[in-house]
Amino acid sequence: MEKIGKPVDRAEFGMTPPTVNAYYSPLQNNINFPAGILQPPFYSAKSDMAVNFGGIGAVIGHELTHGFDDQGSQFDADGNLRDWWTASDKEQFKKREDCIADEYSGFSPVEGEKLRGRLTLGENGADNAGIRLAFMALLSSIDDGSVKKEKLDGFTPQQRFFLGYAQIWCQNQRPEALKSSVRTDPHSPGEFRVDGVVQNMPEFAAAFSCSEGQPMVSANACRVW
Ligand SMILES: [Zn+2]
Repeated sequence: MEKIGKPVDRAEFGMTPPTVNAYYSPLQNNINFPAGILQPPFYSAKSDMAVNFGGIGAVIGHELTHGFDDQGSQFDADGNLRDWWTASDKEQFKKREDCIADEYSGFSPVEGEKLRGRLTLGENGADNAGIRLAFMALLSSIDDGSVKKEKLDGFTPQQRFFLGYAQIWCQNQRPEALKSSVRTDPHSPGEFRVDGVVQNMPEFAAAFSCSEGQPMVSANACRVW
């Protein structure tokens, strides 16, 4: 209540420094990364850059994309709730989002339970687009020579990128906890934050020489951004 009528405090931070998380603020139109997430497995100054791009790079892309998801897209550049989209863009956006919602509704993390494609839509959309932004950053770093094309530990930079991405979502949940989070958490379980995303990416199939019909190559790949 004390904030009403006063200027916006743009230095305000919505998380504590040790928090291992990040966020996009539609009201301030900014992305925020506490110190807690700037450490392994998300980021290390000592890590191979391809792995960092797949880790914190994908998280940065994820937060950026929240500005253009089902909720963030309702706010304009100044943080006001104002529809600034053209009708045809919005229509295309909704159609492409339906693809993601249907796709994730088909995933089952635990017997008898399926993901709620609508509940997790904003997060899944941010995962799918965020990794593309990070991958584009990797490719431009390969182009300018700051990431070497050569293999490291037997893996190409593209492969290390996806390995880095998969590492950040390693988790272990009991079936009971999974059942609860499927109903309440707008994030998909880690398994599908990885498998759901990479099967939509021809870049992943190219990196690991996957062919049509294999599990990580979706026959009906979705793409919003
Ligand atoms: Zn998110």
